[in-house]
Amino acid sequence: MIDSHCHLDLLAEPERSELQQARYRAGLKGLVIPGLEPKQWPLAKRLAGQQPGGGYALGIHPWYLCNDAEGVASQLEQLGKACESASESRQLVAIGECGLDGVKGPSLGLQQRAFGAHIDLANQYGLPLVVHSVKANKALQSWLPKIRHGFMLHGFYGSAPLAQQILAAHERSFIGIGAAVLRSGNNKLVDALIDVPLERLLIETDDPQHGQYDFAGLLTRIAAKVAEIKDTNVEQVIQQTQQNALSLMPRLRNIV
Ligand SMILES: [Zn+2]
Repeated sequence: MIDSHCHLDLLAEPERSELQQARYRAGLKGLVIPGLEPKQWPLAKRLAGQQPGGGYALGIHPWYLCNDAEGVASQLEQLGKACESASESRQLVAIGECGLDGVKGPSLGLQQRAFGAHIDLANQYGLPLVVHSVKANKALQSWLPKIRHGFMLHGFYGSAPLAQQILAAHERSFIGIGAAVLRSGNNKLVDALIDVPLERLLIETDDPQHGQYDFAGLLTRIAAKVAEIKDTNVEQVIQQTQQNALSLMPRLRNIV
C-alpha cells in the first residue's frame, strides 16, 4: 500500500512517528512527501529518508507562491538549483506539488508562470509531476499536453468529464483519490470514478491534519471505498494502486 501524496511534514513529533509506526503495521509500504516551498524541502527530504519506502518531490505549492513576480522568480531559481543538486537522488521521485488554484494563492498569471517552470524541470529531469488544481481546470487543460513523463492530479474531486480529460491527457496520467471519497453524498465523485479504470487510480491521505478521520487507518478506508465503487476487493485496490504509483514514479521501485 503506497500513500501517493502525504504531507507528513505537517505533523509534529512524537505524534508523527507514532502514527507512522501504526501505518506501517497496517500495511503501508511507502509514501511520497510533496514539496511545498523552499524552506520546507530539507525537512521533506529528511523525513522521506527516515521512512521505509519514503520518496519526496520538489516543488512550490500554489498557496506558497510569492505575490509578486520578483518573489516568484526567486522561488523558481531556488527550485532549479534544488532539482539540479538532487537530480540523481533515488528519493526524489517527482516534481511538485505544483499547479493552479482559483481560490487561494497569487494571480493566475503568476501561478501559470510557476506551473510552466515546474513542467520544464520535470521534462528536463525525466520526472513525473504532482499536480494540484482547484477551480482552474480550464487553464489546466492547456498545460497538460506539455507534460512528458506523466503526472497525477492529486486530491481529485471533479466530474466524470474532467476525469476523462485527465486520462486522455497522457498515457501515464493518474487520478489521486483521498478522503473526499469518504464524504457521504459525494455522488459526483463516485460517478466520475465508475468510468476510471483501476489502473489509473492512486490513493492518498494528503494533509494528515485534516483531523476528521483517523489518520492511521485512513488509507485503508479510502482503498475500501474505492473497492466498493469499482466492485472489487480491497486487496486488489491496494495492490493495483501500488503498482500504479511505481509505474508513475519509477524511482520508488528502488526504495519500496
Ligand atoms: Zn498536497
